[in-house]
Amino acid sequence: MTATRKPNLAGLSLAKLRALFAEAGEKPFRAEQILKWIHQRGVLDIDLMTDISKDLREKLKLSTEISLPKILEDYESEDGSHKWIVEVASGSRVEMVFIPESGRGTLCISSQAGCSLDCSFCATGKQGFNSNLTVAEIVGQLWWANSQLGGFHGKTERPVSNVVMMGMGEPLLNFDNVMDALSIMMDDCAYGLSKRKVTISTSGVVPAIDRLKDFTDASLAISLHAPNDELRSKIMPINNKYPIKELLRSVQSYMDSLPDKRVPVIEYTLIAGVNDHRQHARDLAVLLEQLPCKINLIPFNPFSLSDYRRPSSSSISNFRQILQKAGYTVTVRTTRADDIGAACGQLVGDVDDQTRRSDRHKRRHAQSESARKDGVKVFDSTDNLAVAADRL
Ligand code: SF4
Repeated sequence: MTATRKPNLAGLSLAKLRALFAEAGEKPFRAEQILKWIHQRGVLDIDLMTDISKDLREKLKLSTEISLPKILEDYESEDGSHKWIVEVASGSRVEMVFIPESGRGTLCISSQAGCSLDCSFCATGKQGFNSNLTVAEIVGQLWWANSQLGGFHGKTERPVSNVVMMGMGEPLLNFDNVMDALSIMMDDCAYGLSKRKVTISTSGVVPAIDRLKDFTDASLAISLHAPNDELRSKIMPINNKYPIKELLRSVQSYMDSLPDKRVPVIEYTLIAGVNDHRQHARDLAVLLEQLPCKINLIPFNPFSLSDYRRPSSSSISNFRQILQKAGYTVTVRTTRADDIGAACGQLVGDVDDQTRRSDRHKRRHAQSESARKDGVKVFDSTDNLAVAADRL
């Protein structure tokens, strides 16, 4: 018989804490108190929550728990970024990355151990999938970053000002847990992050984007990476299920639902010889004509198991100029933390793959390496991609 787990106070949103206290016949303001102790002051010991009566503290100790994922390792990059290895209850290890910049600190958070979507330019995708993270495991990454960076007890003024759900996993395939975690991040009784500074990055799970407006008003980034369905389906199997037109319609509808004027960020990883031609830039400019947006170009960051290459500086600059001339605001993401394997697309952790995809990728990579050594022409990586739409 499986023992029923006690509710984990670290993973309950304000609404869920209120419901918990209401059920126990307690006053709703207890929910605010708990949220503040855990997420504003960094206190995990119920005995130290001194504005809660002793009786109630004893009850909470018996009927609930406060549990966060564990930090196993901390790597610090030459540029001041951190990558933390986080162990979650399933036994997998996921990664989160903190990037300090002038005037802000961005935390890139994981939502799943591994990922089932198998985008060809992403190290996480090559690992297969193990499990969804719980609410406490997602928001716990923010808790840990604050704790490690001196954000509790007022040592440092808000070290994490921005959160991007761009770590390991597709956040919208762990919808309920991610929505609750976002609500804690944005709650004034917890981290109080602004909706403009919390970004969900998705590969394009259209039905989930269609539901988003009922749960959050966080900002949105779309992993597009190709200007047409044919190429996008090759490098992102999810496109077979939710093609570009449907995706852009869904994104526009979410943006229209927001009361303020905000635009989505279109993420485009530039891969040499795959999607970085001038014509791709022109096609992208036409494709996005109807969708007010910003474009973020990400030069591909190499990792083992990938044959892709980073484009030359001139190719990146040409691509950018074409889009700028067409009137778009374009940024090129500076590579940060690649000395600790924490640049965009490089996160891997340690995932007990449930899909056997990681073995397939390793075999395929070994075959192409051996063919290369034997002087046999190796396919461009896009020829080799498993089209996994049927698994979605
Ligand atoms: S890019 Fe995102 S959705 Fe695609 S495989 Fe990587 S983690 Fe998954």
